[in-house]
Amino acid sequence: MWGETGLTADAIIEKTDGQMQRIVLIRPFKPGDKEIIFRPENSEDAFALSTSELCCLHMVPKDKTFSRVQHVPEEIVTVTERAYHVKPIPTEKYPAGFYALSLDATTPFNVIFFMNQGVVTRSQKRRLGEILEGEGYISHTTIDNTLNEQKKIRNRKLGEIISEQANVPQETIENIIEKAYVAGKVTPRMRIGDILINADIISPTQLEEALASQERGKKIRLGSLLIRQGLITEEQLLMVLALKFHLPYVDLNDVIPTPEALAAIPADIVHALHVLPLEDKGKQIIVATSEPTDYTIPDSLYFHTKRRVEMVVATSRSISAAIQKYYPKGEYPEEIICGMDEEAQALEIEDDMESLSEWNDLIITLVDDLLLDAHSKGASDIHFEPGAAGKPLQIRYRIDGVCRVVRQVPKAYKKAVIIRLKIMANLDVSERRHTQNGRFIIPQKGRPIEYRLETVPTVEANEDAVVRIISTAAPRPLKKIDFTAAYLEKMEHLLSQPYGLILCVGPSGSGRTTTLHAALNYLNTSERKIWTVEDPVQIRQAGLRQVQVHPQSGFTDHEALCSCLMSDPDVIMIGEMKDAETVKTAIEASLTDHLVLGTLHANSGAEAVVRLIDLGVDPAKLADGLLGILAQRLVRRLCGACKKPYKPSSDDIDQLARLYGPRWKGDQTNLETDQDAQLMKKVGCNLCDNTGYKGRIAVHELFMNNNKLKRMIRQKASVDELANLASADGMKTLLMDGIQKIINGETDVDELLKVCRYDHVVIG
Ligand SMILES: [Zn+2]
Repeated sequence: MWGETGLTADAIIEKTDGQMQRIVLIRPFKPGDKEIIFRPENSEDAFALSTSELCCLHMVPKDKTFSRVQHVPEEIVTVTERAYHVKPIPTEKYPAGFYALSLDATTPFNVIFFMNQGVVTRSQKRRLGEILEGEGYISHTTIDNTLNEQKKIRNRKLGEIISEQANVPQETIENIIEKAYVAGKVTPRMRIGDILINADIISPTQLEEALASQERGKKIRLGSLLIRQGLITEEQLLMVLALKFHLPYVDLNDVIPTPEALAAIPADIVHALHVLPLEDKGKQIIVATSEPTDYTIPDSLYFHTKRRVEMVVATSRSISAAIQKYYPKGEYPEEIICGMDEEAQALEIEDDMESLSEWNDLIITLVDDLLLDAHSKGASDIHFEPGAAGKPLQIRYRIDGVCRVVRQVPKAYKKAVIIRLKIMANLDVSERRHTQNGRFIIPQKGRPIEYRLETVPTVEANEDAVVRIISTAAPRPLKKIDFTAAYLEKMEHLLSQPYGLILCVGPSGSGRTTTLHAALNYLNTSERKIWTVEDPVQIRQAGLRQVQVHPQSGFTDHEALCSCLMSDPDVIMIGEMKDAETVKTAIEASLTDHLVLGTLHANSGAEAVVRLIDLGVDPAKLADGLLGILAQRLVRRLCGACKKPYKPSSDDIDQLARLYGPRWKGDQTNLETDQDAQLMKKVGCNLCDNTGYKGRIAVHELFMNNNKLKRMIRQKASVDELANLASADGMKTLLMDGIQKIINGETDVDELLKVCRYDHVVIG
């Protein structure tokens, strides 16, 4: 009907950049559309615009009619800070947003579709009292009475407050003031408080207190007053505020914040704003507050996180408790360790928890410090070794695969340190005869760190503890996995296949998970549904559905894999294929339109094939499903700050040639012919603790399945047969790959030979 009245545009769009534009929709808008197709008013050119760039779309009610349901008016504020007064239509909610009718009678564009990502706040225009009444928490009369009370408190005169607080009758105060006026002692700038101080009725401190109390009275809100009067509880008030502001109410007892969320907001901000981050969804972060009416909170959080902040409501008490739990205040550990020796002599520690509590803080700080220190030094494990009677507790870090003693803690604290670790991991403190394992997280400004604790009973009723530090790191890009150019290209080729099985093999600690996550990162686009089954989840990626298995409670790898398969995935990653059942299901899945990635304990691709067949996998299915197997090792990298070039002797070159094998002449002509060829050697400096090495580099061997290999797999060929054929087809072995990295100056022969056997080079 609006069309006939000379109106050309049939919609107005508000974009997330703040622009408003009058347009003609070429295709009618539907709430699920990924884009709108339109032409600007007064133009014939058609455009497409992603709906993710829209705050809202105002339309003339043409093809859509809504029943005029009586609903609560709301104020809706978009990301560009425009406020709309509308009546949302409760029945017209979609995953992308919701319809509302404009309350502005002057516009024909009175049907508005708000995109969820374009809306900052929604709040009911009903007053708090009305909602409380509507929800049946209190009666109308109670609200009226309380509003009167609020008014009284807000308008309280200073004299009244002083009379009450300083216990001086109101009459006396009035008399004194009157007398002062009469005696002409009152200057124009003098305040009532000053008169009372001059008259020695109150002290300046009492005046300050009275003024502060008056100030507080002015700010007192209806909700707080109702709580103070015992008419409603804080929970009830928050539930109503949550309703008013369209914010979810959460019980923090039921919600565990994710490590990413805890890391996203620094402790001082959390303490200052009294909020608790709950979930980090990448572009937005969910944060709990007990002050949903305070608009400065989401703004400050946005300032710190540069992400959209979604507020949820929780009680002040539960937020305080959670902050204490997840953001404990730190101390100064070095001093504590130094001071410990003397104290240790004075204390004879018994096993009972009572004496433990006396110096609890000391132990807590010591252990926290060790855990954080180990992480900051890049350790993968911390070993707590009590040793024999009378000996101190020895603490060793494993860094870059090598153990080193870092500290000794006085013997008197041995048991307490282990007890503290067990408490952190929720283990049974009294159980000392069996191994136990558990996990805990320490929130950190940068990123929360997950620790896995394993305790082992040792002699003299002691316990050893090993803490594994789980790097909950962000995924690395595939390009940063140290692949040679040729192997990177091959990996990308494997990953671009629509279905099949790709394995990553190597011993524990060879970086298999990191590599698989890099592969997933390469695959992680919005078109692909990716599930992972892991224990533990070490690397988190937005966009992935990551399942943590709990074998102790019966949620096994196999069960998790089966439930993932039911959720229509394109890609599945299985952290570690340990049992025959999981392996068989994974191979079936790889044959039926899924790309399956996994790790396996095996030394090489050829060995992995034989292991899988030994586990009971059908060789024919394996031959068909398998795309490739990447074997990986980590070797220490020469410290970039101190490594030194040197000219290799002919003996050095001979050794490399011998290790590299028959293809040396074809692959490495440069090193032999170039007179200026250089290799790098270790030196040692402050940065690398004088070891000459810093960090590690991965070496690879990529077993690419092909028709010839398929035939041999079906015939159950031996490890050597498979390895030889793959080599003949151009596979570079771990040793060859490693030697390439030595020639590139990244590591040395000593390091490489620690992780690679070179017997099968002889075969090749
Ligand atoms: Zn160095």
